[in-house]
Amino acid sequence: MPDVDKGIKLKTIIYWFRNDLRILDNPGFSQTCLQATHVVPVYVHDINLSEITQWGFIRQTKHRQHFLSTALSGLSELLRQKSSHLIELYGNSTKELIALARKVGATEIHCEKIIAPEEQAIVNQLVAHGIQVVETWQSSMLDFDKLPFEFENLADTFTSFRNQIENKGNVARPVQQAVSLIPPLPRTLSVTPQLSVIDLTTYSPDFFKEYPHAITSFPYHLEEYFGSEKAGCQHIKNYFSKNLAHSYKETRDQLSGTDYSTKFSPWLAIGSISAAMIIESLREYESKNGATKSTYWIWFELLWRDYFRLLHFKYGKKLYIKNGIARDIPQTLRLSGKGLSIQAENLKKWCDGMTGQSLVDAAMHELKATGYLSNRLRQVVASYLIYDLNVDWRAGAAWFESQLVDYDVYSNQGNWLYIAGLGSDPRGGRRFNVQKQTHDHDPQGYYRASWGCA
Ligand code: FAD
Repeated sequence: MPDVDKGIKLKTIIYWFRNDLRILDNPGFSQTCLQATHVVPVYVHDINLSEITQWGFIRQTKHRQHFLSTALSGLSELLRQKSSHLIELYGNSTKELIALARKVGATEIHCEKIIAPEEQAIVNQLVAHGIQVVETWQSSMLDFDKLPFEFENLADTFTSFRNQIENKGNVARPVQQAVSLIPPLPRTLSVTPQLSVIDLTTYSPDFFKEYPHAITSFPYHLEEYFGSEKAGCQHIKNYFSKNLAHSYKETRDQLSGTDYSTKFSPWLAIGSISAAMIIESLREYESKNGATKSTYWIWFELLWRDYFRLLHFKYGKKLYIKNGIARDIPQTLRLSGKGLSIQAENLKKWCDGMTGQSLVDAAMHELKATGYLSNRLRQVVASYLIYDLNVDWRAGAAWFESQLVDYDVYSNQGNWLYIAGLGSDPRGGRRFNVQKQTHDHDPQGYYRASWGCA
């Protein structure tokens, strides 16, 4: 591979798209395009995600795969419009990336920084193989370079953290323009036909056969680009144009429907939109329509999302062990009370929505059928698994990873730890009384009936 062409020094860089499947507000990708003469945009479908977990189920199921594949089609189209091409690879991320780097003569791989242990391990392996990896942190709403504290001094309660941020003023990351020119692929790279993980024409959310009265909160469409940056931007626009932001705080705890909460999470999780883009639209909305407690609350929830990211910077792998980062195991948690076979049996009943507790079962049916669940029901079912069925919270977190269309490693881990009382919050767990939740949120039983649990 010649590294000089007509006197110009050639530099080929691989840009490895991870959970940042967008061009708008993607500083890492934009920088790469400025630094290279040739850019190879790549996405790796990691084979680990098709593996069976230690809990006995597959790590990633069809909902997220489908959403992801539509996002990738959208990204691929955007790149094509700028005369580039998305290479999709399937296999072990480290091996695939090293092989590609050799093939195109690249010594650098640029990517979004993901601070979770498994994702970091891949980067470490690449570095160990002599590849220079340049990571950009870009998945938060806040600019983490402008925080009023060092990561290791992050407050151990969300409220203290929020106060620090609010006292400091706005440290939100500004949205960056999309890059206008993408350097071409190297001439040596022949573009292989794109691999589609899911056949879009055969995937269909067929739960209506089983639950004809079900109302899905996150309707699936078979549109080719549903998960894409374009669709995500349109979704932000629609949300704010419908004036829903003014009622968000009052409606956000509802159990079902398309409008009670923003539904930004699936696009955020794969990064086809960024949190900074949402905040920009939120501020625009507030300047035209006024800021209210409700509009503030959208920011507040996105701040939780950042807090769980920051916890990863502070505690890393410790967030993945059975006892989390708790100094004392809450008394309400009696994981050791049940044997492993009972735990396995209880886990299966919970996953299948066969616990006999109608609200929990209906929610688990919805999750399995659609890949989405309201925040309130996520809390209820997580609490039920931990405190009533005495199952290891990590099994529940793994099931959510397997099912959720909006699975986000930081938010999932952080919320499960929080409910189990094993995270940083010192108040000791969140146990939800299912009877009370049923009475408060589904008094007439409509939700339960719609998911076959009358
Ligand atoms: P909205 O209520 O409209 O909130 C707006 C945005 O704020 C969301 O899109 C999300 O990015 C953020 N947000 C809201 N609530 C939370 C929260 N509790 N923690 C972190 N961020 C929040 N969210 C995920 O995105 N991925 C997950 O894997 C995930 N796992 C969860 C597991 C459990 C056990 C629980 C209790 C919650 C989990 N959440 C997760 C958080 C929350 O339930 C979802 O973010 C929310 O329901 C998504 O719907 P929405 O976009 O309409 O949220």
